[in-house]
Amino acid sequence: MQITATGYTIYFEEGRFSLLKAFLSEQVFSSIFILCDTNTKKECLPIFLKKIPKLKNTAIITIPAGEKHKNLHSVEMIWGFLTQHQADKQSLLLSLGGGVVSDIGGFAAATYKRGMSVVHIPTTLLAMADASVGGKNGINFKTYKNHIGTITQPLAVFIYKPFLKTLPPRELKNGFAEILKAALIADASLCKKIYAEKKASYTSHIVRAVSIKNAIVQSDLLEHHARKVLNVGHTVGHAIESYFMYKKKYLLHGEAVAIGICVELCLGKNKGITQAKTAMDAVLWIKKQYTLLRFSKKEIECLIELMQQDKKNKGGRYCFSLLKKTGQALIDIPATDSEIRNAFLLYNNIAHG
Ligand code: ADP
Ligand code: ZN
Repeated sequence: MQITATGYTIYFEEGRFSLLKAFLSEQVFSSIFILCDTNTKKECLPIFLKKIPKLKNTAIITIPAGEKHKNLHSVEMIWGFLTQHQADKQSLLLSLGGGVVSDIGGFAAATYKRGMSVVHIPTTLLAMADASVGGKNGINFKTYKNHIGTITQPLAVFIYKPFLKTLPPRELKNGFAEILKAALIADASLCKKIYAEKKASYTSHIVRAVSIKNAIVQSDLLEHHARKVLNVGHTVGHAIESYFMYKKKYLLHGEAVAIGICVELCLGKNKGITQAKTAMDAVLWIKKQYTLLRFSKKEIECLIELMQQDKKNKGGRYCFSLLKKTGQALIDIPATDSEIRNAFLLYNNIAHG
């Protein structure tokens, strides 16, 4: 199974790795490097090397696991390693890990000698369904999420669901938030299916989520217009994630996005943009699956301040991507501080009412 993206292919394989093996033997690289984090080195690399013995002696670059290491320090370490091992523009970086590894790996590769090739092998649900597709890469800067980065497409993406066997359940639910988002913006019937499932089957809709994302990305590679729909839930979600990034209460990206979707549905409903039923159906489903935090007045003000750095803002104005109805989103919707404040208040009521 494969999906054609802009200039590259996304391959889905169950576990034989034959497509990746064929890909590696068809191309000539001056050297290959594998980028892992400390967990994927332990959980995924042994399986990977067993399946592809040819890579047994490949140099391994390991970064510490976790979003808080998605920073310039990790990138410098990778640049240093590549330089020390004489990587050149014909070298290949294989990123074997979750969204953090593909974001950092994609960024390090895009900037090393102005660009070397990267192939993503995502190992989390979030990276399979979302992060490894579309070419966005980057790092966090100070308290701002993904503040520095590029949009550079990989040479290929290979998706192997068996890697999910070792992924903790919290991480599966985390990744599912992006699948739900894809369904909300583009596939009403998938939403219906998800809402009707007795027990959420988190790993069933990866191919559909990738094809939704890929179709949107292909229509607007550099996010000038259509691609912004993928940001549903993310203006608020990123602010929440940034807010908690350096606190003891650490929220995962998808957990923050799930809350972000709820708050933005409240915003859309208040503004008369989002159908009331769309908002209620989604918020009630999310409420059953995720922990919906309550935000104090002070926290809401901090979150609004963090949103001032959102990449979609124009001329100092907040710009949201909001749902019109299930399966359809609108972009470039301006909102004021007080509208956002009221959306949080409605969210607090629904989430805890
Ligand atoms: P995300 O993919 O959600 O953006 P990360 O790349 O940080 O985030 O991955 C989430 C966590 O799961 C990290 O601690 C990472 O090391 C770990 N991880 C990634 N893939 C696997 C896997 N297949 N099995 C077990 N742990 C994994
Ligand atoms: Zn996201």
